Formats: sequence, C-alpha cells, structure tokens
Amino acid sequence: MEIKTMNSESMGRSNRLTILNLIRKYPGISRREIVDMTGLNPSTVTNIVFDLIERKFVQEGEKGFSDKPGKRRVSLLPSKEAATAIIAKIGIENTQIGLGYLDNFFESVYEIKTSSNFDEFFDDFGEKMHTLYKKESLRSKIMSLAISVPGIVNRNTISMEIVPHLGWSKIEMGKRIKERFRDIDIPIYLENEAKLSLMAEMYFNEEIDDFKDGIYVYVSQGVGGALLINGQIFLGASFTAGEVGHMSIYADGPKCHCGNSGCWEEYISIDTIVKKYEEINGKIEGTNFKEKFEKMISKSEKDKVAQDILNEMMHYLGVGVANLVNIINPQFVMIGGMGEKIPNAYIQTLKAEVKERALESATKDLLIMTSSMDMIQSALEGCTLMAMDEFLKEAIS
Ligand SMILES: [Zn+2]
Repeated sequence: MEIKTMNSESMGRSNRLTILNLIRKYPGISRREIVDMTGLNPSTVTNIVFDLIERKFVQEGEKGFSDKPGKRRVSLLPSKEAATAIIAKIGIENTQIGLGYLDNFFESVYEIKTSSNFDEFFDDFGEKMHTLYKKESLRSKIMSLAISVPGIVNRNTISMEIVPHLGWSKIEMGKRIKERFRDIDIPIYLENEAKLSLMAEMYFNEEIDDFKDGIYVYVSQGVGGALLINGQIFLGASFTAGEVGHMSIYADGPKCHCGNSGCWEEYISIDTIVKKYEEINGKIEGTNFKEKFEKMISKSEKDKVAQDILNEMMHYLGVGVANLVNIINPQFVMIGGMGEKIPNAYIQTLKAEVKERALESATKDLLIMTSSMDMIQSALEGCTLMAMDEFLKEAIS
C-alpha cells in the first residue's frame, strides 16, 4: 500500500499560511482558538505563531483572562505594516486609488474622474498611482498593485479585454504601466469588480459564511455578476463566466452594445432606470447616474412614478434571477453594486417574483439579499484581499 505524505517543509509552509490567514480573518483570535479550529498540535501552533511574530506578520494584542482558570488569553493580530498594496477601483464615472494593508484595512487616497479616452485616463491614473508608489514613508512596503475593472479582464495577460461602458478594448494594462513607469517592479493584478465584491462578501459577511453556491448580481451602469460554485468563484474558459447582464430576456428586445438583443442589463441597469424616470418626470438632480439613482430611491417614498419604475425593475430583476436560480441552484442570490441601495420593500417584491417563477425546489431554502458593503467599499476590499492573498502565497515559506 502506498502512503502519500507531504514533506514536512511544505506541510509547515501550508500550516503557517493557514494560521496567518486565520489571524487575518479573525483578528483577536487566541492560540487556543487556532488549535480548536485547525486541530493542529498546540506546540506546533505556538511555534508557528512565534515565527510569524518574529517575522513581523503578526503581533500580540490585548492580554485578558481565558475561560480556563489560571490561563492568560493573548489575542493575535495581523501587522498592518507587514505589507501594503496600491489598490484601485476603476468606475465608469469615477476612479478611486488608495492603499490596502495586511490587516484588511484600506484607505481611498485619490478620486479622479474616469475619462473614456484611455490615454487621458491613464495619464491621470498613472500619475496618482506613481505618487503613492514613490512616497517616502511607503518605500519598500508596497508589494503589489491590484485593480478592479468594470469589464472583462484576462488575468494571465494582465489586460482589460473589454470595458463596454467606456469603449475600451484590448488594453494591456500591466504592460502599459511597466512601460510608462520603469521603476515599478511589483506584480500587477486585475480583476472584475463583481468577482472582487463577491470575494469581499465571502470574507466578511457572516450571513453567507457557510455557503458554497451563490450568485452575485452587480447592478450598476450595465449589469455584471459573479458565480460561486462549490466554494470557488467560477471563472470559465476565458474569464467571462458570470456576465449575467448579457443573458437575453427578450429574444427581440432592444439591441445591446454586446451585439445581442434584449439583454438583461437593457432592463435593469441604473442608467436605464434613471432615463425611464426622466422621460416621464423630467430631470432628477445629480451629476451622474449613481447620484440620480439614489435620489430616485429617496423620492420613491412619495413619488408614484418612481415607485412604478422600481417595481417594474424588480419584475425584470426577478425574471433574470429566476433563470439563474434554475440553472445554478444557489443557496443565495446577492444584489450588489448600486443594487445595494434598493429598499427592503422592493427586495420583498423581487423575492415574490422569483418564487413565482423559479422551480419550487430551487427556491425552498434560497436566500435573496442585498450586499452588506457598498460598491466602492466591496471592490477596494476585494482588491486588498486579492493583493494580500497573492503576496502571502509567495512570502510565507
Ligand atoms: Zn448584451
């Protein structure tokens, strides 16, 4: 009989990563709790934690009393300063650029207008990013650059394949950055905003902690999405999996920029909804679709036109969600992006619509909810998590 064993070096490495990731996910955790959660030997945990403190990935926090008599409980925290990443969320209207840290905290430092002229955008974006990179106080701490993209990315070639609402296609972002800024010699990661948002929710949202199958619908100008299948975000053969906005819900509906007709996003994206309202009731205050959509929601308390349009939006949202539920059979459907702003009363309408349409056994235990974070927070948090996960894979040896 062949007994497969891992060599002790790789086992030690994976235990170190497991323990550090537990301390990141549950800051304040004690050695005892790590033993209980991992089933590892207490002396192994003690040794690894000692090593992680020595290498400044972890620090000890408050000392308190444990529930065991005579034992002190020492909380363990990830060291914020151990690794920093430059993070960015490219939005259709505005772009945020900031810093993310090993303890999962992040800060947005700059907000710029997103010009649809990529060269113009890149001048501004690159300059802000490079300013952070060169900052004296951050010297040698910045490990990577992680960017959230409102479109389809190719992770391998570090390129934006298509960002439909800005008219960008085939932009080799990684190459462009390294050509312009020759001193930037850190890894660059690109990911789609819906996938990053789902990643952040999976990490922080206790409501979906134990779930393995779910759908994230990112409602913005355009509609994106991400699929959680068997505990993993499903990417597909060429990274387009989860582009739920281009599911046809009317074969002969309006032409979409993707070339198809009657795409879901033609019925539920926030620009469609705002335009529909403005056609009937005139201009809404606000300088962009995000602000106008929020304004329309606050108006909806008293404004019948806004109510009718939001109810119609729930109808179409329900049609698409029912299709997805029948195909994927998820445990949860999360409505995110600007969808996070939709009041609970309308989410109840959506739930009824889905229950009415989808297979009964698929909706029996289905949870439908809005995301716990807003669209900027979830994308920047997702960037931070992605950057730190990638960094630690290399750094923990
Ligand atoms: Zn389409």
